[in-house]
Amino acid sequence: MMKLKLKLNLVRDSIRNSAKTPSILVRKSLISSAAPAGGGGVPKEVADCVVIGAGVVGISVARELSLNFARNVFVIESASDFGTGTSSRNSEVIHAGIYYPTNSLKARFCVRGRRLLYEYCKKHGIPHKQVGKLIVASRHEEVPKLNHLMNLGNENGVEGLRMMEGSEAMAMEPELKCARALWSPTSGIIDSHSLMLSQMGEAESHGTTFCYNNTVVGAHLEGKQIHLHISETESPKNWDHKSQRHPDVVLVPKLVVNAAGLSSAALARCFSGINRGVIPQSYYSRGCYFSLSNTTASPFRHLIYPIPEDGTLGVHVTLDLDGQVKFGPDSEWLTDIDDISSIQNKFDYTVHADRAKEFYSKIRKYYPSLKDGSLQPAYAGIRPRVSGPGEGFADFIVQAMSLGYKLEEVDLVKVKRLLDSMPRSFLQIMASIEQCFDLDKMLFDEVVGRLKAYEGDLKGTEDVQGGLLLGEESHGIPGLVNLFGIESPGLTSSMAIAEYVAAKLSK
Ligand SMILES: Cc1cc2nc3c(=O)[nH]c(=O)nc-3n(C[C@H](O)[C@H](O)[C@H](O)COP(=O)(O)OP(=O)(O)OC[C@H]3O[C@@H](n4cnc5c(N)ncnc54)[C@H](O)[C@@H]3O)c2cc1C
Repeated sequence: MMKLKLKLNLVRDSIRNSAKTPSILVRKSLISSAAPAGGGGVPKEVADCVVIGAGVVGISVARELSLNFARNVFVIESASDFGTGTSSRNSEVIHAGIYYPTNSLKARFCVRGRRLLYEYCKKHGIPHKQVGKLIVASRHEEVPKLNHLMNLGNENGVEGLRMMEGSEAMAMEPELKCARALWSPTSGIIDSHSLMLSQMGEAESHGTTFCYNNTVVGAHLEGKQIHLHISETESPKNWDHKSQRHPDVVLVPKLVVNAAGLSSAALARCFSGINRGVIPQSYYSRGCYFSLSNTTASPFRHLIYPIPEDGTLGVHVTLDLDGQVKFGPDSEWLTDIDDISSIQNKFDYTVHADRAKEFYSKIRKYYPSLKDGSLQPAYAGIRPRVSGPGEGFADFIVQAMSLGYKLEEVDLVKVKRLLDSMPRSFLQIMASIEQCFDLDKMLFDEVVGRLKAYEGDLKGTEDVQGGLLLGEESHGIPGLVNLFGIESPGLTSSMAIAEYVAAKLSK
């Protein structure tokens, strides 16, 4: 166990310390296993499920589909190993679920995901610690914001939140300075690589195949069947974007989960036949970490977070499982990433030493004795965001081919009227995707019944995009689930996201 842990730490640190994506080693190539199509064309393979991306979310989805739904899963990963994206470049904090608007997916998945994660860690011996966290108001003027967070957390179902006087918090943490603090006992830290490794093992033993060094570069529809275009990772690296890309292999799966993290929206835009209007714009925000040099002992025993600012949780103190302290992440919008460089994974993770200046002033608000010269650049991660500068909160987006959540709020009479006015070709498309409908039972039965009544005289398959019935979530490709904007608390939420996606697909 000790040796494995050492190896995992080395893997994680080598990923974090390289500013660019690691070099490519072919471990398991999908391309070599695909049968060539007749007539020397692009090899084509049929598959049951494909998950795009072996980050913590993709792995968890693959595990859930294979373990609990007996699906046969291929995970296609462009890097040479699992978890080399955002899943290696975060705070490794198990969040309680305090910050997010009540009933948002972030709030629901975080609370549920946290519970699932602790259970999983205990059952499978994944290194973790429920160290607890203090969210601190450095000045009395910030106390109303702390009260707001406490109310929000309570509404979200977070257990054990307690407001503390500054004196009590400072007694718990002698290096801390604060006016008041909110204590969250269910927050913790986790070794995310051990988590991913364990879930991969379970997925593999239930028939999942992980294919590295393979990049999904696009897709097209034949009838209602998605065809995924896949190239060896080395080849899309040289792709100039001007020429048409020819895939090395085409996969024809029944179900696809796009869990490509930073590039999931860019990739979805390369799927021909998709309703592009529902794919959110991609924004990227880099967050850098600094570690504390010349210390043997950590100044803190708990996680320390300031009041959130600018749509982030603020430069906070996190501890790793060895007790080492790091500060971060800050936030810097990246403006030079287009869709192609995103798919090619061309992200710059350099931590510029000059960012330390701002770190000192932010950290000293709650840790005044931080010494000059004690911070050293550590690593960076990039947030896959679906809202831009100044746009405020954006939720996780789980996008499926469904009638959409909007319909759940529509009354039945309106739905009937709507159905009567629908073009028949549109209804035919809707009928063919029954399995993906995501409605309450009564509405579902009603809609399917009405669609079946039309079945006899439906002709033609002309493509109809959007439309009232499709709802805002729908993208138009049966069997595809897109995951967009899976930023923090994505690690904490990963098992809840997997549970939700698998249930949606199994309908
Ligand atoms: C700075 C920072 C701090 C964070 N801190 C926390 C925290 O403390 N707690 C928490 O809960 N969450 C945290 N998060 C969020 C969390 O890290 C992410 O939500 C989570 O790791 C996302 O996992 P993922 O699997 O969706 O994405 P990723 O880990 O990025 O995985 C996506 C995978 O898809 C692959 N891929 C991409 N494109 C293709 C393609 N075309 N074909 C094939 N493969 C492809 C990539 O190589 C990658 O391996 C933080 C995020 C950041 C940026």
